[in-house]
Amino acid sequence: MYNIYDYPIEELEEILVNDGQKKFRATQVFEWIYRQGIKDFSKMTNIGNANIEYFQTHFEIKELEVIKLQISSDGTRKYLFRLDDGHLVETVLMKQEYGYSVCVSSQVGCNMGCAFCASGLLKKQRNLKVSEMVSQVTKINEDLKEIGERVSHVVVMGIGEPFDNYDNLLKFLKIINYAKGLEIGSRHITVSTSGLAPKIIEFASFPLQINLAISLHFASDEKRNKYMPVNKAYNLNTLFEALDVYYKMTNRRITFEYIMLDGINDSITDAYDLIKLIRGMNAYVNLIPMNETGSKFRRSSQENVKRFFDILSKNGINVILRKEQGHDIDAACGQLRVKTMKENNQWKD
Ligand code: SAH
Ligand code: SF4
Repeated sequence: MYNIYDYPIEELEEILVNDGQKKFRATQVFEWIYRQGIKDFSKMTNIGNANIEYFQTHFEIKELEVIKLQISSDGTRKYLFRLDDGHLVETVLMKQEYGYSVCVSSQVGCNMGCAFCASGLLKKQRNLKVSEMVSQVTKINEDLKEIGERVSHVVVMGIGEPFDNYDNLLKFLKIINYAKGLEIGSRHITVSTSGLAPKIIEFASFPLQINLAISLHFASDEKRNKYMPVNKAYNLNTLFEALDVYYKMTNRRITFEYIMLDGINDSITDAYDLIKLIRGMNAYVNLIPMNETGSKFRRSSQENVKRFFDILSKNGINVILRKEQGHDIDAACGQLRVKTMKENNQWKD
């Protein structure tokens, strides 16, 4: 049995053609599932009874199981999903002025080991399947459908390093972008990476105009090495060379994410190091309030954030301060999962 959510349209077409089915049935089925939210082949009235039977015997439309849903006072919703093998992943839905944005996880755990991140506390258990990424969007769409809405934006910024699950990531992106399906515009999709330089170069040739965000957080190799082990494999020089290639090939503006960590990366010197590093690039900096996930790190004071912001801004850097959402429901990278695992005694400190 294939889970239909594992296949981009061209792969589904190939399976159908190999099975002696008409190629265009793939588009019909995509329209039903992704556009109409119909998850039952027998309700797909235009595909014909014989074909309904074919689909029923070969494919399932299988969603993830929601085991916990937390709703914040600001409307942010945090879903905890259980996968078939018992692993847990989380997804956050945020209501924005411009629509509904979903923060998707790409792996169970993460191997990058960033010191400030709860997801890195548990090593990667495995990559998420394409269907497990897709269902984070389609399952949430079921809820939004009830209020006549749908997911309009996707950020791949949940648990995991998306570029460490590269092939599945690309399939996922194709599926959610497909015009006769979920139709989430490529400019409404952002992928965030901790800086896997070779994959950044590869991603430059991916035909969709997806936004790229780099989790920079530190503007010197010395600091980045200390808190983000990925920097030992791909240091700032290598990372920025890759970004240069990426920019030359795509002409797309790059986002730098910078978590404000008290006494660690929020000084005046840090601000000038950052300016030196990115000045002249077509980029902007997203300053992120830290979520204190039980780690030894603390968020920067408001004064330090303001000082940092002002220095960047006065030096011609495009900078924005990320608004905090879902603070009351642990809507941070990896938090809910860790908490539930602790409750279930699945967590070993
Ligand atoms: N692995 C990818 C994507 C998932 S992490 C990456 O690192 O880019 C998504 C974002 O959350 C990253 O920018 C990450 O650095 C940030 N993040 C991790 N821990 C955080 C914390 N405790 N508070 C705020 N942001 C955090
Ligand atoms: Fe992994 Fe991203 Fe967390 Fe680093 S910040 S440990 S790359 S999920």
